[in-house]
Amino acid sequence: MVKVTLIPGDGIGPEVTDAAKLVTAATGVDIEWEVVVAGERAIQTSGTPLPDGVLESIRRNKVALKGPITTPIGSGFRSVNVALRQQLDLYASVRPARALAGEGTRFPETDLVVVREATEGLYSGVEHWVDREHSAAETVNVITRRACDRIVRFAFEYARLHGRRKVTAVHKANIMKTTGALFQTAFREMAAKYADVPSDERLVDNMAMQLVKKPSEYDVIVTTNLFGDILSDLCAGLAGGLGIAPGALYGESIAVFEPVHGSAPKYAGQDKANPVAEILCVELMLRHLGHAEAAERVYRAVWETIAEKKVVTYDLALPGYTDRPVPASTCSAMAKEIARKVPLVDLKKPRPQPAAAKDFGAADGSLEGA
Ligand code: NAD
Repeated sequence: MVKVTLIPGDGIGPEVTDAAKLVTAATGVDIEWEVVVAGERAIQTSGTPLPDGVLESIRRNKVALKGPITTPIGSGFRSVNVALRQQLDLYASVRPARALAGEGTRFPETDLVVVREATEGLYSGVEHWVDREHSAAETVNVITRRACDRIVRFAFEYARLHGRRKVTAVHKANIMKTTGALFQTAFREMAAKYADVPSDERLVDNMAMQLVKKPSEYDVIVTTNLFGDILSDLCAGLAGGLGIAPGALYGESIAVFEPVHGSAPKYAGQDKANPVAEILCVELMLRHLGHAEAAERVYRAVWETIAEKKVVTYDLALPGYTDRPVPASTCSAMAKEIARKVPLVDLKKPRPQPAAAKDFGAADGSLEGA
């Protein structure tokens, strides 16, 4: 039996984490969930969005599955998500963007992984108003060589371990001559140590354009905190939407699994949200815990459910995701369908993959730019 911390989160969080629990149970892996509350609900019960018990539980269990947590915009409490990453030193945010049976998506070949530094940069929380009138403000972009070294090393190790074909560093070193250059130098020096893994660099503005033009030219993308936050949503969009994009946060000894999407408050309590992103977090979590076969069953059950297009939520039923629009099912119905398929999956069949083979022809990206 493995004990895992479970944070249901805000908005659609409780619905999608219930879905994830159902699918975990279908794998037969013996997990005991230690449920702790963080976010808006914790303010009502504990007076703080991040009670000490949440951090203690994660430190004790070393593994957590998390739903999205709301952060007030412009004012109010600081992000619980950012605080968790900083306080537990979860420095590597890994967000795979895979097109799952998405014959109607624009880029059914999308198979990217964004590796984002998650503890510093423009999310360090070093910011203030410059004057009393609040007419000027500063946010400090804290970049350290130590954090750059460990995130780029993580990206190269990840690429090696998972047989990925290329690591691309994304920065803005032409304008940010100190912070950008620090990241760029760390990347170049690390790339020399991992000569067996092809690598290149892109400026972030150019990268955004290149990704929507030809995502198959890229594979693992490593970048700083804010750029990674933006590019991982972009990549989720290429793969078919936020509803199917899982994520993982790794520290030296702790791992927290959470979807790329937020708490989508407008869908809260409606049993409407897509549970796949949270369910694919279970896939990542099971792989991390050494249950490779159970993880593979979850991945394939998700794939088959989406491919069948019989029981899918609204976002996967719409034109734009599918060429065959179908009636939308609920979050809980889709979760039940995936859970039903988990034990039935035929592991002897070839693994379903994003559509086309990767083409590493000449990319027209350069480091020129403004
Ligand atoms: P969001 O990801 O919650 O929602 C953006 C849009 O994406 C939604 O309106 C919805 O159309 C779609 N969407 C998201 N998840 C979906 C799902 N599972 N199924 C179907 N459609 C889905 O982003 P937002 O509206 O910018 O943020 C809402 C709140 O979530 C904010 O408070 C934000 O701070 C927080 N947030 C938390 C996390 C986290 O916990 N890691 C991440 C991002 C945003």
